[in-house]
Amino acid sequence: MRAVTLPRFGGPEVFACEDVAPPRPAADQMLLHVAACGVCGHDLLNRAGHFPHTRLPAVMGHEIAGTVVEAGPLVSRFKAGDRVAVIQRMPCGICHLCREGRENVCVSGPGFYGEGISGGYGEFVIASERNAVRVPDGVPLDIAAVLSCAIGTGYHALRRAALRAGDTVVVTAASGGVGLHTLKLARLMGLRAIAISSSAGKGDRLREAGAAEVVVAPDFSFHAQVRALTDGLGAAGVIEIAGAPTFASSIRALRLGGRMVMVGNVAPGSVALNPAISILREIDIVGSGHATVSDLEAVIALVSRGEIMPEIAARFPVEQAGDAHRLMEQRGATGRVLLMHPEAEVAPC
Ligand SMILES: [Zn+2]
Ligand SMILES: [Zn+2]
Repeated sequence: MRAVTLPRFGGPEVFACEDVAPPRPAADQMLLHVAACGVCGHDLLNRAGHFPHTRLPAVMGHEIAGTVVEAGPLVSRFKAGDRVAVIQRMPCGICHLCREGRENVCVSGPGFYGEGISGGYGEFVIASERNAVRVPDGVPLDIAAVLSCAIGTGYHALRRAALRAGDTVVVTAASGGVGLHTLKLARLMGLRAIAISSSAGKGDRLREAGAAEVVVAPDFSFHAQVRALTDGLGAAGVIEIAGAPTFASSIRALRLGGRMVMVGNVAPGSVALNPAISILREIDIVGSGHATVSDLEAVIALVSRGEIMPEIAARFPVEQAGDAHRLMEQRGATGRVLLMHPEAEVAPC
């Protein structure tokens, strides 16, 4: 198959375009012809060598949608020709996490696309019934490719927050990709979202996305304003996308019995937590990873109904993966960047 490979870690220039052996599906797996693959901030870190588990040469890319070209004899829910999108990893299906519907954190399966298993920068990937979701005809495959990461992350976080309609939720790093989609989802769920942004001038964009209120906090301190906006009570939940910089104010922005959902961490490092705050105020602190299969199903259904759409910033032919990475590194992406595979097998790159 044609694939953009990562022969060594480094800058965007290290990618090579070559013919490699396609992955071979096991009896309970299927082979997908990749239509499009999203480029994620995670990919930039992987390319630069921040993930020690990535085996070189790697074929990166975990935001994948395509068409089933071959289904193993133990696959019963999909057949050749089906259009599917996948969550970012292939889970095992039998560990306690998989049985609890938490396959997004399973580490016993084939692995994460682009790290343990060959990813969507290649023409074909393997998938299984445990990580694939059917894509309705009305949803283009390039849109479907980014849904698990771009929208599913916020959807999963809001589900982990276990809020009720009418509750107030604080969203930090609200003007980033995950933040904007989380605001849209919060509005769809009937939540009152307070968007936290470190820079002024994003208010209109944040309100348009779904924020009921916007707090600009260049010093990462916003709990006093959140309290003022909630009759002194605090918010029922915080979707913590910034992580360490905002953690201290986020926890003080919560009401009694509130829940903090840790989704992102822009500045790796530790945070200080006074256990008494969590104990006396019964504050829950939960982590939230990527989407599960049921999250992806829900997001695809929302997109199919026209309730939400991911923003696409640019599309590149897959062999220009280096240019896609450069674009993301230069200006940060205000929407998703996609790598497109040719529909048919055309000239080798
Ligand atoms: Zn991603
Ligand atoms: Zn598992």
